[in-house]
Amino acid sequence: MPVSDAYDVVVIGAGAGGMTAAVVAAAEGLSVLVIEKTDFVGGTTAWSGGMVWIPVNARMKQAGLSDSPAAAANYLASTVPEPENADLRDVFLSRGPEAIDYLEANTEVRLRAVKVYPDYYPDLPGSTAGGRVLEPVTFDGTKLGKRFWRLRAPLPEFTLFGGMMVHRSDIPHFRKFGRSFRSTLRSLRLISKYAVQRLRAPRGMTLHLGNALAARLYASLLARKVEVLFGTGVEQLLADGDAVRGVQIADPLGVRSIVAHKGVVLATGGFSHNAGLREQFFPAAAGSVSATAPAGTGDGLRLAMAGGAGIGANVADPAYWVPASLFRRADGSQGVFPHTVTDRAKPGVIAVNAAGRRFVNEALSYHEFVRAMLADGNDTAGRSFYLVCDRQFLWSYGLGRIKPFTWRIGRYVRSGELIEAPGLEALADLIGVERSVLSLTVEKYNTDARMGRDLEFGRGTTIYQRHLGDPDHFPNPCVAPIERAPFYALRIYPADLGTAVGLRTDAEARVLNGDGVPIVGLYACGNDMGSIMNGNYPGPGITLGPALTFGYIAGRHLARQGRQA
Ligand SMILES: Cc1cc2nc3c(=O)[nH]c(=O)nc-3n(C[C@H](O)[C@H](O)[C@H](O)COP(=O)(O)OP(=O)(O)OC[C@H]3O[C@@H](n4cnc5c(N)ncnc54)[C@H](O)[C@@H]3O)c2cc1C
Repeated sequence: MPVSDAYDVVVIGAGAGGMTAAVVAAAEGLSVLVIEKTDFVGGTTAWSGGMVWIPVNARMKQAGLSDSPAAAANYLASTVPEPENADLRDVFLSRGPEAIDYLEANTEVRLRAVKVYPDYYPDLPGSTAGGRVLEPVTFDGTKLGKRFWRLRAPLPEFTLFGGMMVHRSDIPHFRKFGRSFRSTLRSLRLISKYAVQRLRAPRGMTLHLGNALAARLYASLLARKVEVLFGTGVEQLLADGDAVRGVQIADPLGVRSIVAHKGVVLATGGFSHNAGLREQFFPAAAGSVSATAPAGTGDGLRLAMAGGAGIGANVADPAYWVPASLFRRADGSQGVFPHTVTDRAKPGVIAVNAAGRRFVNEALSYHEFVRAMLADGNDTAGRSFYLVCDRQFLWSYGLGRIKPFTWRIGRYVRSGELIEAPGLEALADLIGVERSVLSLTVEKYNTDARMGRDLEFGRGTTIYQRHLGDPDHFPNPCVAPIERAPFYALRIYPADLGTAVGLRTDAEARVLNGDGVPIVGLYACGNDMGSIMNGNYPGPGITLGPALTFGYIAGRHLARQGRQA
């Protein structure tokens, strides 16, 4: 599609942050161009769980759940104690619900309250047991018509039968396949629908989670006729004095300038894949593994810093962490499986460090889990950590990308990804830890686990942990002994889900220069913006909630600028 050389707004990056800013600016009557480096919209958003954390949102009220600005502020004060970005957290609390209402009224974005999904520190004051987190309503991909292929596909490891997305609420039914008539029927209906879809498309068209959010935002862009320029990198920002007035791009037509009368929005998804910035901001023990989409190479930060922007690096952690296992896909590509919620908290698996000892309550949030890995590694890169379980666990719950009820696990063992041994001592030899230490670790865990408790780390002691356990397992949904050979180990690495260090911004999402003054015409949202949570992880959806909120704020502010100009 030929692109004009002047717009009101140019947005760089088509993830949650960028597409939100773009569609809001368009809804406010501005002409908008989105520039996307890859051939697809969606970025990491399309791979994500799509959870959006917005305290005091209207949907939770409709669902009969209570929350209040004071409770939310109280909770944030204890989970994000640093003074940095306190003003922006206030803005988030006051304008987050407004952003969602606006998106639902003016775009294809539809969200619903997840009634049961506790905040990650449920014992702290002001926490809720559910409802603060919203999830995208399932989206019918056929509505994107011929543009469906432009939507980044979900991670294959989170689909069934080579491309079928499964909603959280359907997982228990698949687990009861063949054991419950209702569940078997429901599963068969979903599978037949998928089979019919596959006659027309390379993957399922019933979209859930982050893929539904990205699809809904993309559908909104298409509905508002917002142009998206794919496969194009931005070389530099164009300045007029201190103000940003456009971008210089390089595409097949050559190097050219595009004017942005009102402003440029940076939304390139942070710097998870920029080795230099990782080295600068991450602890050495964090290593180089990222669960994010590969295009997040820090371009937004690079462009803004060249224009004098400041970085907010005073954070509790520079990124949002997740333990991840690595594997090779059949097509040769490197796979990274993020162990967010599928296995760690289920009964019958433990995590051990390089000495063969447990070092963490495995049912804590993924962020806290990796904090414990980093603390245990003493900033030494490459120390090994393993999840250890038995055949019973592997069959019932799966492990990493190995799904529950997998009969043929030989190929995972042969590739070296999954380590199998007939006894714990042999397993210890294979993972390079002292036999006696691993045996003692498991024995100690089992002694408590047989009574449904974990005296060492307190697994299953909060509603968050129990929520991620197995509700059908008693008395503790997070604890069961590991005792039926063969035994298994899967190596896990610290990895990130997104960066928290980013550009300093003000309450209108304008990028600040090194002196804290807004750079006229330059905005940032999503992970290009320094995270308002300062690298703390209070609850599910704490990156997408702010991404939508500050994307919305940028779009609205750009429109106001338009009227003033
Ligand atoms: C498995 C997984 C699950 C997750 N689940 C959740 C969740 O449920 N809730 C939550 O809040 N967070 C979640 N996260 C984190 C969340 O997905 C990210 O923080 C969020 O998607 C970042 O949004 P963004 O708009 O900043 O970036 P992205 O969605 O990554 O979009 C950035 C876009 O910019 C493009 N781009 C990059 N460089 C350029 C350039 N130079 N020019 C043009 N375009 C460029 C990229 O190709 C990409 O399309 C999860 C992450 C992972 C990996």
